[in-house]
Amino acid sequence: MTPPEPTAKTCRAHARMTGPVKPTAERQAQLLKQIRAIISDMDGVLWRGLQPLPGLREFFACMFDKNMGFVLATNNSSKTRMDYVDKLATLGVNGVQPAHIVTSATATASFLRTKHPPGTRIFVLGGAGLKQILTKAGFMLVEDDAELVVCGIDTDLTYQKARKATLLIRGGAGFIGTNPDSSFPAPEGLVPGAGSILALIEAASGQPPIIIGKPERGMFEAALGQLDADPKETLMIGDRIGTDIQGARALGIKTALVMTGVEDETSLAASPTKPDFVFEGLPDLIQALKNAD
Ligand SMILES: [Mg+2]
Repeated sequence: MTPPEPTAKTCRAHARMTGPVKPTAERQAQLLKQIRAIISDMDGVLWRGLQPLPGLREFFACMFDKNMGFVLATNNSSKTRMDYVDKLATLGVNGVQPAHIVTSATATASFLRTKHPPGTRIFVLGGAGLKQILTKAGFMLVEDDAELVVCGIDTDLTYQKARKATLLIRGGAGFIGTNPDSSFPAPEGLVPGAGSILALIEAASGQPPIIIGKPERGMFEAALGQLDADPKETLMIGDRIGTDIQGARALGIKTALVMTGVEDETSLAASPTKPDFVFEGLPDLIQALKNAD
């Protein structure tokens, strides 16, 4: 028996199962024409580990050319903005300023400034980078009588520190986490990230944290604030659907997935969240942005 000819209905059903219908070049240009600002993830979009991805320099040239506002956003709270500016410079990208970078640590400071006055007493479970950013934002870092516990990746975590954080939260201190990533890649394999430390403190204190990093709102709000941009006119570029795409979507930001990081055709097809655009990598994305002129 020959299978029935595909109808418009079965084609649509197939498109729903396998992913978004690829917009025509014209429709894509129309949608991209509205974009005034870009938020881009870094690992898996600009580079993979130490290896720059194709189109890296051209991507920045294109944004500078178009006078497009941009922010580079990462959940990593342990590096400073300057570390990323320096990394880009070693890869041949000049002109990026610290103000172009949002880390989960800077986003946490921005979030706290909207909720708590300068001088608020904070106990930090985290590294020197996070402490420096919070101090610079006007907060007072203390060991006792803290109003807030802020927790990021702490590579010098001890039982004593976890004990102190737990007792403070049980005593009424607010509990903030920089980012939810339970692990991150080290040369030897995956190792505990900030999310694993948050899980420990949450289990001990009985209190879930407010988390700032992707996919939560705090990170995207900090990026939009820095760009002074309307979400509808902003494009989030990322390689991870569950964080970059899902988080941006929740705020009405347009989304572009690049296939140079963690997702592939199978994971994209299986995901209930579909990005507005899918690009093989930066070269395709640059071409599409140019076509939208
Ligand atoms: Mg990434």
